[in-house]
Amino acid sequence: DPSLAVADPEIHELILEEDQRQRHSIRLIASENYASRAVLEASASSLANKYAEGYPGKRYYEGMQVIDPLERLAIDRAKALFGAEHANVQPYSGSPANLAVLLALCKPGDTTMGLSLPAGGHLTHGWKVSATGIYYKSVQYGVRETDHRIDLDQVRALAKEHRPKLIWVGHSAYPRTLDFAGFAEIAAEVDAYLAADIAHVAGLVAGGVHPNPVPHCHVVASTTHKTLRGPRGGLILCRKAHAKAIDKAVFPGLQGGPHNAMTAAKAIAFKEAAQPSFRDYAERVVANARALADALQEAGHTLVTGGTDNHLMLIDLSPRELSGRKTAHALDRCGIELNANSIPFDKRKPFDPSGLRLGTAALTSRGLEPAHMKTVATMIARGVDEIARCEGAVSDEFADRMRGEVSEFLADFPAPGL
Ligand code: PLP
Repeated sequence: DPSLAVADPEIHELILEEDQRQRHSIRLIASENYASRAVLEASASSLANKYAEGYPGKRYYEGMQVIDPLERLAIDRAKALFGAEHANVQPYSGSPANLAVLLALCKPGDTTMGLSLPAGGHLTHGWKVSATGIYYKSVQYGVRETDHRIDLDQVRALAKEHRPKLIWVGHSAYPRTLDFAGFAEIAAEVDAYLAADIAHVAGLVAGGVHPNPVPHCHVVASTTHKTLRGPRGGLILCRKAHAKAIDKAVFPGLQGGPHNAMTAAKAIAFKEAAQPSFRDYAERVVANARALADALQEAGHTLVTGGTDNHLMLIDLSPRELSGRKTAHALDRCGIELNANSIPFDKRKPFDPSGLRLGTAALTSRGLEPAHMKTVATMIARGVDEIARCEGAVSDEFADRMRGEVSEFLADFPAPGL
C-alpha cells in the first residue's frame, strides 16, 4: 500500500505546503490552534474505517470491541474534565452540537435568545441565515453602546418580554468573561433552559482560568479544536435529566455514524487538558492576550472594551478608517494571520467590517510568553501603518521582508504536531 507521497503527490505536496505555512506564520486566528502530534495521529487512524451508529452498548453494527470502550473513555474523560453528569462526544463539530441542543430542548418555532453575530455571538445562536434562526424564532441580545459589554439588564428585559424556551450564553468574538451565574438567574426567572456554548473558551475553562458554566447551565456545548487544542469536533455536556434527549438529538436526530477517529482524538485532548501543564498553558494564553492587548494599545491601536479577559481581542480600525478585510489580507501576505471581524455597532458591512479579531491560543502552544507579545504587537503595528500609508496595497517587497522577519522570530518556537 503506497504512502500518500506516492499515492497522491499533488495532495501530499499541498499538505506539506500547509505545514510550512503554519510553521512560518504568526497565527492569531482566535478559533485556531496547533493540536498535538498524538491528537493528529489518532485523527488519521484505522478508527475512521468503522461504522458505529448508536452509543456504547447499544449499537446498530457489529465489531464494537474497540469502539465501545474507546467512546466510553472519551465520555468519562470529558465528564471528569468539566465536572459534568453526562457527555456526548459524537457531534461532528460545534454547529451540529448547537443544533442538537435545540433539537433536544425546543420544538420548531419556539423562541430562543442569543448574542447577536455583530456583537460577538455565533451564527448558530439564532442568526437569521442559520438553521437556528430559520427553524426557531430568534431574539438577539447585544452589547451596551457605552462599553460594548453584555448588559444583563437588557438580557433580562428581553427574556421577560419574549419568554424564550432557551437562552444561549457564549461567543465567537467577545473579549470579556461571561457571567454564567447572572445568566442562570435570568433563565430561572423566565423558566428557560440555559445553554452555554464554550467553543472559544473551553480550554480556559478546563485550565481553570475562566468560570465553568456546567454548574449553572442545563446544557453546555463546545468545539474541541480551539483553546482546548483537540481535533476538529463537537461536544455536549449536560445534566442527567437531559442526557436521553441530548443523545437522541445527536443520533438519530441529526447525525449518522460517529467519527470514531475523532472520538479517540477528543479523548486524547481531554487527557492532555487534565494535566497540570495544561493549567499552565491556559494561564499563559490569558497572560499573553493581556500582554498583546497592552502592547497593541501602547502602539496606538483601539481595542473593543479596552482590552481582554480571555484569549481574544478585537482591534477597532474605525479611528483610522481602514477596511478590516484589506488589512487582514495584507497582514496575511506579511505572515501575520488573523481575521476581519465586525465590531459592535459597526458602520461597515459584515463582509468588510471595521475590526480585526486576534487570539493567543496557537502562539501560546508554540511556547511564546508575554515578553514576546511586544514583538508580535510591533510587527502588527508596522504592518498596519504600512497598509494605512499605501491604502492596503503593501508592496511585495514589504510583504516579503515582513515574512522573513516573522519566520526568523518563530524559529525558536517549534510548532507542535508538525
Ligand atoms: N460556537 C461558537 C461559539 C463558535 O465560535 C463556533 C465556531 O466558530 C461554533 C460554535 C461552530 O463550530 P464549527 O465551526 O466547528 O461548526
